[in-house]
Amino acid sequence: MSMSNSLKKLSSCVLLDLDGTLINTDGVVGDILRKYLCKYGKQWDGRETLKIVGKTPLEAATTIVEDYGLPCGVDEFNSEFYPLFSAQMDKIKSLPGASRLIRHLKCHGVPMALASNSSRANIESKIAHHKGWKECFSVIVGRDEVSKGKPAPDIFLEAAKRLNKDPADCLVIEDSVPGVMAGKAAGTKVIAVPSLPKQTHLYTSADEVINSLLDIRPEEWGLPPFQDWIENTLPIDPWHIGGPVIKGFGRGSKVLGIPTANLSTKDYASELVEHPSGVYFGWAGLPTRGVYKMVMSIGWNPFFDNKEKTIEPWLLHDFTEDFYGEELRLIIVGYIRPEANFTSLESLVAKIHEDREVAERALDLPLYSKFKGDTYLTE
Ligand SMILES: [Mg+2]
Repeated sequence: MSMSNSLKKLSSCVLLDLDGTLINTDGVVGDILRKYLCKYGKQWDGRETLKIVGKTPLEAATTIVEDYGLPCGVDEFNSEFYPLFSAQMDKIKSLPGASRLIRHLKCHGVPMALASNSSRANIESKIAHHKGWKECFSVIVGRDEVSKGKPAPDIFLEAAKRLNKDPADCLVIEDSVPGVMAGKAAGTKVIAVPSLPKQTHLYTSADEVINSLLDIRPEEWGLPPFQDWIENTLPIDPWHIGGPVIKGFGRGSKVLGIPTANLSTKDYASELVEHPSGVYFGWAGLPTRGVYKMVMSIGWNPFFDNKEKTIEPWLLHDFTEDFYGEELRLIIVGYIRPEANFTSLESLVAKIHEDREVAERALDLPLYSKFKGDTYLTE
């Protein structure tokens, strides 16, 4: 992690968007549309997500009906879509770092508002599935409580007003372009956390663009810093992934001198979507060989501009032979940094070695070393 001491601007309260910022609404919406569009012989391929993210429900419905040429009106679409959506609301997961952020701000008495393009009733239904969230927000403002939705500033202006704050003292956190525009139009500072990959270039008006909520540095905005980083690592809820080792891009050992043991991502689509790109670490088990320290990247590897999101673990051990086809088990226990691009291969390699050192040291801490004995790694 790189700790920056630069104070961007002082904020005394935080206005949070909901869908795509705190919860992964797009995942559930995509699942519903995939099935729903089949009825009309159409195929949802996710590309429309870019067009509907951050829009009001009415705008999003209009886009889908028009883009897919559905033989129904927007009202009819909504009357069919919303019951399906309501039935799935409990499946909308919080995004990584969302609960941590909310708990942290609440714990330090930082006033928070939820400010969303969804209706007030819809917001309340969604957050009801996330224990302890509702009590954290002093104010909730929905699209139906103001005259114009985002990208107009109304929702954020109303949220600031109800918090008794000047918009200039508010920090907005938003995943969508319309949301960022709304925040800037309202006169707030805005952190963008794009919910769609490879879209950073669209967020030029934001004061900062971060990869995920794991990367937020409240102290840069005059807010209390997180205290949970330990030796340059952030503990995360451990998660597992496993499968046979496949041949990767072949550049791990050839180009970089770093032999990664790649896993097929075919069976792990949901894990890949769920975890932000970045550098993580944990333990790797090869049942016939042993358990090893491991550092890994998840993402598109901007230096090589991968077309697909991949998981590339590096087992921190000198193996004398390849082990393609062998079962590899991983437990991921901590986070180091967001994915980054580099101006040269040398600087990329140097950073990976720095990550290795951070991971090797951290994995000796009891907090992380206790997972070495997990039977998942060896069974
Ligand atoms: Mg959003």
